[in-house]
Amino acid sequence: MAKLAISGGEKLYPDVKALNVPDWPPRTDKMRKRLLEVFESGAWSFNSPAEQQFEAEFAEFQNARYGIFMANGTVTLECALLAFGVGPGDEVIVPAFTWMATALAASYVGATPVFVDIEPDTFCMDPAKMEAAITPKTKAVIPVHAYSSMADMDKIMAIARKHNLKVIEDSAHAHGTKWNGRGAGSIGDVGSFSFQQSKTMCSGEGGICTTNDPEIAEKLFLLKHIGYVRGNKQGGGSQKPPQGLLCHNYRCTAFQAALLAEELKDFPERAARCAENAEYIRRYVDSMPGLKMQARGRLADPQSFYILSIHFDPEVFEGIRRDAMIAACGAEGAMIGGGGHLPVYSQQLFNLRADQYRFGDPAGCPVTEKIAWHTIGMSHPALVSRESAEATIRTLEKVCANIDEVRQYQAKLDAAK
Ligand SMILES: *Cc1c(COP(=O)(O)O)cnc(C)c1O
Repeated sequence: MAKLAISGGEKLYPDVKALNVPDWPPRTDKMRKRLLEVFESGAWSFNSPAEQQFEAEFAEFQNARYGIFMANGTVTLECALLAFGVGPGDEVIVPAFTWMATALAASYVGATPVFVDIEPDTFCMDPAKMEAAITPKTKAVIPVHAYSSMADMDKIMAIARKHNLKVIEDSAHAHGTKWNGRGAGSIGDVGSFSFQQSKTMCSGEGGICTTNDPEIAEKLFLLKHIGYVRGNKQGGGSQKPPQGLLCHNYRCTAFQAALLAEELKDFPERAARCAENAEYIRRYVDSMPGLKMQARGRLADPQSFYILSIHFDPEVFEGIRRDAMIAACGAEGAMIGGGGHLPVYSQQLFNLRADQYRFGDPAGCPVTEKIAWHTIGMSHPALVSRESAEATIRTLEKVCANIDEVRQYQAKLDAAK
């Protein structure tokens, strides 16, 4: 008799409503009111008061001096590279375990992304591998604070300073996260955040650069606002030439800023609930043979959880893959499954550009391969609820106790290929 829902058994959680997972994205009355205010004001873009307010509040939240609001968390990375003059002939070191944007930003400015491997516990760039990948062409490094952990900023900054490299912290998952008391995005030369729909703060689309350097802050503003300095309306005369920069329109709108300013107020409490539930899950998961939750970086506290990630050791589970685990867990009705990163170079766009990137280590990225193909996750909206956290534990318990059925399912998947 089959036990798992994936092979015809009974589902553990037939009623998803019982998991008590709040709607995502949030839609509160306060947000509605702020949107209407912006609507009535007519100040919809062009460095409006709503944008300026959010830039200041978010930068302060991350302990940075300046915030430059932009269209998304990809152009923020591109502009950061442009602000440092990175371009054709240069190399940019990125972890292999991230969303495509981290590496594409380098490609967009004509530089070469260089992929390095990650640490097996934090899933963030391995500083030793980063150092080994540096060549005379290397100009910048983009560590990613993956999911709910932080890259080792102490080691990365020390290596970068020694080799005169700029550090851009891809903090698309790290709103509210701190490293040794300093906010993500305030430690490197520039921080980059995304407010795309799935992120822990979202406005549909949106992004922000953070920095402590006034000159870089001004350059970033020029870059996103087609060369106009702050305070000059589009079409108004620019008092300064745009410093030799070919600038873009990468602006975002005041509507998005208003949504985000409201979300920021509720963010610390929501993140704290996620962290509490994550620790609840960790106590169970880390005691199960073969399962391990992503570790926080040594000095990362607090952490905000974008995706709570659970690695299942392919040796213990004898070759079970992510796709089979996702299907098995999903079939039980709990909100645990996919959503995590694949190795960047395995993504379609990079397959097309195989001659335009390189591996820092000719042996490739074995840790990235192991983690990416053998990890499942729970995204932050599901982590807010204790019922949903409990459901994840019960689901893992059931699936792991009946792993042979998952193996049979995986064999069927393979046969169908
Ligand atoms: C989401 C994400 C981005 C890009 O953000 P968009 O706003 O979607 O362009 C960059 N880096 C990482 C690691 C991300 O997860």
